[in-house]
Amino acid sequence: MQPSQDLLQQARAEHESHLQTCRQCRADGVPCTAAEHLRRLHNNLARQARSVAGTRAL
Ligand SMILES: [Zn+2]
Repeated sequence: MQPSQDLLQQARAEHESHLQTCRQCRADGVPCTAAEHLRRLHNNLARQARSVAGTRAL
């Protein structure tokens, strides 16, 4: 497995576990600052993983 995929899965797991454990996120149903940060991190990694895959396909 590629390192970037590991990071991607790790970031997603962190985001999901945050949503499950964070009182603020659970109470409001709205992501708190930390959740937003984790989500953005995951999105960035996902974009990187896609661009790497796209580069390889060429
Ligand atoms: Zn939260």
